[in-house]
Amino acid sequence: MKKDHQARKRFGQNFLIDQQVISQIISAIGPKVDDNLIEIGPGTAALTEHLIKRCPSMSVLELDRDLVKFLGAKFADYPDFKIHSGDALDVDFTQFYDGRDLRLVGNLPYNISTPILFHLLQVGHLIKDMHFMLQREVVDRLGASPGSKTYGRLSVMIQYHCQVMPIIPVPPESFRPAPKVQSAVVRLKPHRQKPFIADNEILFSQVVNLSFQQRRKTLRNCLKSLSHCLDGLEGRLDLSARPEQLSVGDFVTIANHINQTMSET
Ligand code: SAM
Repeated sequence: MKKDHQARKRFGQNFLIDQQVISQIISAIGPKVDDNLIEIGPGTAALTEHLIKRCPSMSVLELDRDLVKFLGAKFADYPDFKIHSGDALDVDFTQFYDGRDLRLVGNLPYNISTPILFHLLQVGHLIKDMHFMLQREVVDRLGASPGSKTYGRLSVMIQYHCQVMPIIPVPPESFRPAPKVQSAVVRLKPHRQKPFIADNEILFSQVVNLSFQQRRKTLRNCLKSLSHCLDGLEGRLDLSARPEQLSVGDFVTIANHINQTMSET
């Protein structure tokens, strides 16, 4: 670990220092020599130094240029180690696909973890699995079930694409500096075969967004702007329900119904 690096708040830097948590994460990932392993935000290499021993051809993506330099020097003896300097949000992850599905890992900067997840969902078909440290509250939202307080847009969109498994709770003391919030590691496995298929995923995402913009209203009210496309849905779904009571499958049913109605008119 780099001892003299001053953590930069703007880069969401909270470095892992708890060796027990680090080994739990490494064994949960189970890196293999021929994995297409990519770490987002390696920082001072708390995870990288373990991952690289098992998968020397791994790649990392780091925004902080000082740390990019540090990582280059630290792992100079690993000729197949690849460092990409830049913002994970701007990266086209299809470039990593070489016939092997991607395995993504990272203790993500909490300020941009949700946008990173949405960015990665776009290439979900190329991903084998993802292991991410996130705010505990975000992990709760990812895995929430209909009817619970934390169930919302993020739950529906992630569960549409992935199986969600919260695996390791992590307290603030496991980091330096310690964040103000609890953390947790989650495993996300994109569905090989989605349980529900939206005919138009953009429309599906718009329906989910609209529905959760005003979660206390009924579905009929939330989707007022699309009311001309809802005829015939009443028998299949209760439009007076609140959006948080609907399952992922229900949202797919609504989106597919609207899509079909639109294509018929
Ligand atoms: N993996 C290290 C660890 O566990 O100790 C560092 C984790 S720290 C929470 C987040 C890391 O992501 C930092 O190294 C930070 O510089 C990097 N980072 C922040 N924003 C980023 C971005 N947009 N793209 C890539 N890396 C980013």
